[in-house]
Amino acid sequence: MHELRDGDAILRDGTRPREVICELARRFYTLGWVSGTGGGISIAEGERIFMAPSGVQKELIAPEDLFVLDRSGAIVERPRDATLTLSACAPLFLHAFQKRSAGAVLHSHSLHAMAVTLLSDEPVFRATHLEMIKGVPGHGYHDELVVPILENTAHECDLADALGAAIDAHPKTSAVLVRRHGVYVWGDTWQKAKTTAECLDYVFAAAIEMKRLGLDARKGPR
Ligand SMILES: [Zn+2]
Repeated sequence: MHELRDGDAILRDGTRPREVICELARRFYTLGWVSGTGGGISIAEGERIFMAPSGVQKELIAPEDLFVLDRSGAIVERPRDATLTLSACAPLFLHAFQKRSAGAVLHSHSLHAMAVTLLSDEPVFRATHLEMIKGVPGHGYHDELVVPILENTAHECDLADALGAAIDAHPKTSAVLVRRHGVYVWGDTWQKAKTTAECLDYVFAAAIEMKRLGLDARKGPR
């Protein structure tokens, strides 16, 4: 456990956001969600938002490498290493924090999340009657899961407005996919964001596998 500093915080469950972000980054790296410096993780505590830096090997970040922002997105604390820069995902993460009062936001470059956006040209991903859909807040087994899909842009920051609009247009969603890119997922707590991301990744993988088998995840049993 690292030494607590002024800009530090302890979450209601006793975990420390700086440590949780580093631990999740290591775990997500093994899943292929944040390889090659891609992806990102951010956790909010009260008025502070803790965020991993840009363009670094996410599985190697240390607690002191994180940025701390306020709720408006202004930097209130920089990493000890002055060469580190704020994540290009920051404006996207902020939309989920501001519009959904999220406690944590994850961005994954999971192969499943990327490939599932190529199954159709629709602006949304749909699936129903899969057990793991129940792990996505507000959904039961019989419900239709709908996740909006944004078209990718050359620069990640250019996705921010479209992501904000997608969140507004889909009040029930806990995630937004980006075609040929990955997914943003949020939750009330880091635990909820993590399990929602895991369930969604499973459903995306299932939809891809079902397509391979000539089945359609958008359709329930006859
Ligand atoms: Zn990305």
